[in-house]
Amino acid sequence: MDRYDVIIVGSGPGGATAAWRLGATGKRILLLERGGYLPRERENWDTTEVFGRARYQANETWRSGDGETFRPGLHYWVGGNSKLYGAALFRLRETDFHGVRHVDGVAPEWPLKYDVFEPYYQQAEELYRVHGARGEDPTEPWASGPYPKPPIRHEPRIADLAEGLKRQGLNPFHLPMGAWIEEDDNGVAKPDSPCLRCDPFDGYPSLTNGKADAQVVCVDPALKAYPNLELMTGAYVERLLTDPSGRAVTGVETVVNDARRVFQADVVLVACGALSSALLFLRSANDAHPNGLANGSGLVGRNYMRHNNATVLAISRTPNPTEFQKTLGVNDFYHGRALSPANDWEFPLGHIQMVGKSDGAQIELEGLPALLHWLPQQPFDWIARHSIDFWLTTEDLPKPENRVYYRGGVPHLDVVSANLESAARLREKLRAICDKVDIHPHLMDRRLYFGKDVPIGGTAHQAGTMRFGEHPSSSALDLDCRAHELDNVYVVDASFFPSIGAVNPTLTLIANAMRVADIVAKRLRG
Ligand SMILES: Cc1cc2nc3c(=O)[nH]c(=O)nc-3n(C[C@H](O)[C@H](O)[C@H](O)COP(=O)(O)OP(=O)(O)OC[C@H]3O[C@@H](n4cnc5c(N)ncnc54)[C@H](O)[C@@H]3O)c2cc1C
Repeated sequence: MDRYDVIIVGSGPGGATAAWRLGATGKRILLLERGGYLPRERENWDTTEVFGRARYQANETWRSGDGETFRPGLHYWVGGNSKLYGAALFRLRETDFHGVRHVDGVAPEWPLKYDVFEPYYQQAEELYRVHGARGEDPTEPWASGPYPKPPIRHEPRIADLAEGLKRQGLNPFHLPMGAWIEEDDNGVAKPDSPCLRCDPFDGYPSLTNGKADAQVVCVDPALKAYPNLELMTGAYVERLLTDPSGRAVTGVETVVNDARRVFQADVVLVACGALSSALLFLRSANDAHPNGLANGSGLVGRNYMRHNNATVLAISRTPNPTEFQKTLGVNDFYHGRALSPANDWEFPLGHIQMVGKSDGAQIELEGLPALLHWLPQQPFDWIARHSIDFWLTTEDLPKPENRVYYRGGVPHLDVVSANLESAARLREKLRAICDKVDIHPHLMDRRLYFGKDVPIGGTAHQAGTMRFGEHPSSSALDLDCRAHELDNVYVVDASFFPSIGAVNPTLTLIANAMRVADIVAKRLRG
């Protein structure tokens, strides 16, 4: 029978969390995922395969508005992009919900504030096994409980860095990380710990299932616990079909192994990722919704945000033998100077965190610096031994002209960056900090992380394409993340974000997926 109580489209953190949460209702649930299980194979940890050949990245070609082609940094697997994510799981700051003034404009206020999300953040941290230490990060919002897991220990070079930053009056903190790791008193991974503190973590699939990704944390346990939940892989949802009035989705048209099938459900949750969800709504246009489903506002696909991200490599004056480098963050420049005294500018700059350590192969693939390829002895391994790698994020602003859409059947993406001056100033802050902590003050760009061969292809932090709000004229979703124009369709990925803050987005969309799942569960109870 192809009829269910609930259909969820997409098994990334949004869809998988909703499936995990709704499983307990006992209702018949179908989770549709276009990809399959990401194979566990040696190549999971092979830098040339993962970064050089983009082995796990979607093999698609999209275009920008001016005709440039690019390969989006999307990953179609059970667990979605979280199979490769860095698992830094942050709450947005409380101020992010209230509207933030930036140099290029205002990041809009959210219609619901932090207090609504807080209980779900706490539960999301528990579900995704977040390791961290409250009280270290000067920008962290209030929390109803401690982190469920202790912070992941810094290795010696990073501990030195933390001390050096403190001597400069900064407040480095342990990164909140979703990992399946158990450390002993010396910070060594215990023999039965799935995460081994190995270097291929950030941007790689975890060969040992040591990352708290959506497959490991939600899909697999939920399938085991709830016989009423069914996962169908290789199931590409082509269109959502409606009744003639256009008020309700009556079918989910899906291509499964080249065969077209229509599944039915009382309620449909869409979680294809902010870009792909908007595309699904756009290609579901029909007579009742000529511009795309639930697109009376014209906003579906617009206000795309992705952060101004940069991954940079610096050279430590002392060797950096760190294996698991992603343990430290700095938020002393997150706000403008009124709230972040280390920032001498009135506007916010953003967030700094460590990324996974570069290895020799990665440095060679990056062509960093290109000149080195001509040297008789190419010093990539030497650079890797001394490299120390950072990731910088500045908030992006929602602009209607930044959008995903179809032209001639091909996905197109238009992106104009915002707050570039803030991003440049943040980089300069990091450069100045480095000089004082035994690191050469030169920052080289690492473009392969995030599949960022072309800047527009850096889609990892996709958000905002179907913002939520009270008014159907200025938002696509209502406050429950239900499409304003349809009675039975909800969106549970980062599409709903009105603004994106400057920390990683995934914990927020997970928390919201829990919130919306509770609303749907209540509805199902009648
Ligand atoms: C390299 C990398 C590093 C990252 N690091 C971090 C980090 O440290 N911290 C953080 O917070 N975030 C990070 N992110 C971002 C994070 O992965 C995403 O925010 C998160 O995965 C989004 O979850 P989602 O459920 O909305 O979408 P996705 O994870 O994109 O999942 C969507 C799912 O829907 C499926 N799908 C799409 N279209 C269809 C269709 N038509 N029919 C059926 N199925 C469909 C896809 O195959 C996919 O499995 C990173 C991302 C990348 C790529």
